[in-house]
Order: sequence, then structure tokens, then C-alpha cells
Amino acid sequence: MIEQTSIKEIKGIGEKTQKLFEKVGVSTVGDLIRYYPRGYDVYEDPVPISEVEEDRIQTVTGAIFGRVQVSGTRNMQVTTLYVKDLTGSLKVIWFRMPFLRNTLARGGVITLRGRVVRKRDGLVMEHPEIFYPSEKYGDKLNTLQPIYGLTAGLTNNAVAKAVRQALDGLDLSKEVLPDELRMRYGLAEYNYAVRGIHFPEDKEVFYHARERLVFDEFLAFILSLRKLKDKNEKLENEYVVGKKPEVDEFIRRLPFRLTNAQSKVWREIADDMASDTVMSRLVQGDVGSGKTIVAVLALMNVALNGYQGAMMAPTEVLARQHYESITRLFEEYEIKIKVELLTGSMTTKEKRRAYDRIECGYARIIIGTHALIQDRVNYDCLALVVTDEQHRFGVKQRETFARKGGMPHVLVMSATPIPRTLAIILYGDLDISVIDELPANRLPIKNCVVDTGYRKTAYTFMKKQVAEGRQCYIICPMVEESEHLEVENVMDYAASLQAELGNEIVVSYLHGKMRQSEKDDIMERFGKNEIQILVSTTVIEVGIDVPNATVMMIENSERFGLAQLHQLRGRVGRGKYQSYCIFMSSSKSKETKERLNILNQSNDGFKIASEDLRLRGPGDLFGIRQSGLMDFRLGDVYQDAKILQMANEAADMLETTENEWLKNLPNYEGTSSVII
Ligand code: ADP
Ligand code: MG
Repeated sequence: MIEQTSIKEIKGIGEKTQKLFEKVGVSTVGDLIRYYPRGYDVYEDPVPISEVEEDRIQTVTGAIFGRVQVSGTRNMQVTTLYVKDLTGSLKVIWFRMPFLRNTLARGGVITLRGRVVRKRDGLVMEHPEIFYPSEKYGDKLNTLQPIYGLTAGLTNNAVAKAVRQALDGLDLSKEVLPDELRMRYGLAEYNYAVRGIHFPEDKEVFYHARERLVFDEFLAFILSLRKLKDKNEKLENEYVVGKKPEVDEFIRRLPFRLTNAQSKVWREIADDMASDTVMSRLVQGDVGSGKTIVAVLALMNVALNGYQGAMMAPTEVLARQHYESITRLFEEYEIKIKVELLTGSMTTKEKRRAYDRIECGYARIIIGTHALIQDRVNYDCLALVVTDEQHRFGVKQRETFARKGGMPHVLVMSATPIPRTLAIILYGDLDISVIDELPANRLPIKNCVVDTGYRKTAYTFMKKQVAEGRQCYIICPMVEESEHLEVENVMDYAASLQAELGNEIVVSYLHGKMRQSEKDDIMERFGKNEIQILVSTTVIEVGIDVPNATVMMIENSERFGLAQLHQLRGRVGRGKYQSYCIFMSSSKSKETKERLNILNQSNDGFKIASEDLRLRGPGDLFGIRQSGLMDFRLGDVYQDAKILQMANEAADMLETTENEWLKNLPNYEGTSSVII
């Protein structure tokens, strides 16, 4: 068996299973062994009953106390027992397992592993795995069982079995890293690492395995980035774009003064575009720092010079918002530059008209989504490409975008706070500008972390804000099990809130499954304050700008990563009004509280990212991938910052040694979904 072998060759995988695997993106043996677990079940030491925490999977050992009881309806029988140790007792329930009554004896010692939740009558362990007699737990203690991403019909066991077979059938002895390098960084062998990532005997093995694979991933990424840099470095500038006086005039007439940081970055961009070489620049700035206007100035300048400029956004909602705010600005200041919108959801006819206007050069500034880089779009004289929220795109898409023109200037914008040392590595092929200042009219957002008992008070508060003319967002609890439920959830929430608040306030909702035209309609109405409270899933996470919105309330905030929460919070505090962010959480866990408290105390993206890292420590087994940045398979830019530095050093070394094996490294551009 080789990596390219179809998984059909694996024993036990028939046509049906093959189809299921295809759904999760696995078609070859190579894909399968790189289908790394999403997390692991760890069979940890039992904890004293008095110390169990809610919302976590835990193990307890105790004596069965009293009688095992069965209640409920015939279809939904609930078995209840109490276990007791020296520190306390805990209620335990199972669903549809009435036969337990006959197998579990009063007084027997039992070990139980399951999720503990808070019910009206206190903490309850739900549907735990049973080890009875309790010694049986010894076999599992400290082992890690892989948990794979699944799809309906594909079980965790089936994946684990297939992976095992693939590993057995594959010759994994090939080692691409030179020994010297491996030794220098104390990295595990490849062979050990792939086995260890799927079936680690213990945490040590897991750390080592993961470290090695993350290193490979980063190294390959850095090397391909450097190739890109070599290619783009010092390309002669075909579009020398001088700064037009109309742009300065426009800046003078804007309703606000540019911050010093914005002016500085705008100067850097203008200088780049007027220089002898092509611009490749990243503009980094926290949420709300005002990146858009800087991009608009660049686009405008290019258009005034007789060329075209295009800006790509990751979502339709955001693209449309950019389009509308630019057309509005231009109308207001009587600037006669033709702005065009191009998104995937436009009708064929609309698209065709847009293509025509782009191709003949009538459209000078083009705003859109991925639709901008489709084959059918031909530009007339594309001199500048801008990507907004670059961390949502791949390097490859950025490249494709640039290739749409001759050799256009490239400007990318990102709100992701990464320390400069890391940014230099990750955006190795770009020069970096930083907007490190918020507009002066901003009041710092006021935060609070509260439990669900506060919900009513929060609603009253929102009502007051609305009475003052402001607007609010509510991010609805996520439903992990199914998108369908999530949709229902958002709709129910909005309906009951509407009933609660009465008809003077318009409550509406937004979720990912809505048709694009519906989403646009909702956003437009929210933008015009025809809707005062918007209940939404995280679809509004990036870029949305409605300065009149002053309250962001996030339900179940413990389920989100801090970086994501910071982005969501960034939807408010964008104008001159005092804004508020309410992090709602029902979790009593100390860790959760500590984590949310970071947000409570700081509005600074950089600080949050580094505090988060400090709190969690590297190698967190279940870490929600906090950064959401650059979608590596395993690596996390923050968490694995040290490995990233190592890989960067190694890349320096390798470049000077010109090794044969370098060619054997997996080709990143082709195989991965790396996003920067
Ligand atoms: P982001 O950096 O998150 O993309 P935006 O560019 O969307 O932020 O800007 C956020 C809001 O701040 C917008 O409503 C914008 O008009 C406004 N804004 C931008 N620059 C300034 C400034 N210098 N002074 C006041 N408001 C500004
Ligand atoms: Mg933005």
C-alpha cells in the first residue's frame, strides 16, 4: 500500500463506507493517516465527588448508595442511582437502560465516567460509561482514545479501525527530515509521530507526536511562502500610481479625521504604489481601528489614475456592506468613480452585466466575494487587489486574485492580533503596516460576565438602549449537534424575545442557512435601524459595521474561543456612543470564569491573545483552536508559537544547504487548506 492507494483497498472498507469517508474528505490512504483526531478521550484519575465540576466529563469512584430506581415512560425509562464516597454523593442517571437495575447491586463499588451537568436539584452525572466492578477502570486509566470528526453513518470505531489498518499496511520508515535537524530540535521520528497522533499510549507520546507533525506542517508552509516571496520580490512596478490631489481633498472632507496611525499607513501604501517595485503589504489593525477607509483611499487613487482596483471580502454580507458604504461616500462627495459589486448570489443576468462592465473598464472599483477570482471574470487593467479579513482566505486565493491582473499591487487586511515576531514569519512575503490606534471618538466598551439569571435585566437594559435610539445584537447559543437545530434555535429565541419586548421594538434574526437575498435584506434593514435587535448565529462575526449598535450580548459565551469572542464584541463600540458587551454563561467552572474574565478586563486584541495562551499553556488537548487563524491541520499559531519559531530557523538553515530531500517535502500549496 502507498499513500496514493484508494482507501477501498483497506480491508473492511466497502463502497458504502468509502462514500462516507469521501464526505469527510478522505479518499486515499494518505488522506486517512492525515485525518488526525479532533481530540482525545482521556481516562483520568477519578476525582473526589465533592470536587466534580459541571459541564465536564469526569470520573468518580464510589459505593452504590440506596436502591437503583427506574422511572419515566416506557419509551424513555430513566435509571437513577446515587454513588457515595468519603466526600459526598452524586446522582447518576441513564436513559433507556432499565436492565441496569438487575446488574448493579447496592453497596457495590463502581467507577463511572460521564458528563456532569447542573439540574434543578443539583449536579447530575448523565449517561456515564460504567466500570463495574470498579477495578476494570484500571485498564483504561491514563489512556487516550482518539475522537474523529464524523458524518452520519460513519462511527468513531470505524475510522479508528481503518486508520489502524492503514498504518499497518504502509511503509512509514521514510524520514524526510535530516537527522541532524531532528536531533537539534529533539523531534520525534515521522513513523513514531503518525502512529502516536492517532493512538497515543499516554500524553507524553501525544505531545511528542504532535510536536513533530506541527513542525512539518509549519516548515512546509514557511518554505512555500518563501518561494512565493522570491517570486514576488522586487517585481518591477507596471502600475506606477502617483498620489492624486483628489484623494487628499477627499480625506479633508471626510466626516472624521484620520487617526495618525491611519495616515501613516496610507502614506506607506501610497509610497509603495508610486515606487519602482510592486506593493505586497499587510495592514494589521484591531477590530474597529478603521482599516476599510485606508483600503478605499488606495482603491480610489488607483481608479483616479485610470486603472482598476478590486476588493475581496470573505462573506457576501460584508462585500455588500463595503459596496454600499463606498457608493454612499462617493455620492455624498460627488466622486465620479464607477463602483461595481460582484457576488456569487447575484443572478446570471446581473453577473453578466457586471462581467461586461469589468471587462471593458467601465467599472473602476470592484467589490465582491470569491466571485471576483472566478475564471469568467476578466479585468481590463487591474492594478490593485485588496483582500479584507485575509485570515479567512488561503495564500492560494490571494495568489489567484493577484494573477487576475498583470502584476497588480497587493494589499491585505487582517484584524488578527499576532505579535510582530510571528507576523513576520507567517506573512513572510509581505511588508507589514500596523494601525495601532483607535479613532479618538471611541469610548472603551464596557463589559460584563454574567450568568443566565441576569438575562431579564439584560433585556430591560436593551430596551432602554433602544429607547435612546440604539440597536443591539444577541448571539444565540450554538447547537453543536445539527445546523437544523441551530436554525430553529435562532428563530425561537427571536420569537420569544419579540413577545417579551412587545411590538414597539422590531426583533429579527439571521443565520447561515438563510438565502443570501434574505440575509442582505435583514442586514440592510438593520443598517437603517428598521430592526432594533438582531438575533444571530456567528455569521455576523466578521467585518459588519453598524456604528449605531451599542449592545452585544453573547449567550453561551463559554463555548467560544476568546479570539472569536473578541471579534464578535468588535461589532459594537464602532461609533461615538458608549457600547456594552454582555458575556452570558451558565457555566460555574472556574476555568471558564477565568477565561471570560480576560475579556472582561481588556478590549485589546493583542493582550487577549497572549493572556489566553498563558492561561491555557501549550499542548492543550481539547483546546478550541483559539486563533481560528490559518487553518493548519494540527498547528495553532498561538499555541505552537515556539514550534513556529523553530521551523522558521530550520527553514533558514535548509535554504543555505540546498538538500535533495527538500524536494520530497509535501507541497503545501497543493494539499492543504492553509489560510492566511
Ligand atoms: P475595521 O478596522 O474593523 O475594518 P472599519 O474600517 O469598519 O473597522 O471602521 C469602523 C468604523 O469606524 C466605521 O464606521 C468607520 O467609518 C469609522 N472610522 C474609521 N476611521 C475613523 C476615524 N479616523 N475616526 C472616526 N471614525 C472612524
Ligand atoms: Mg473590517
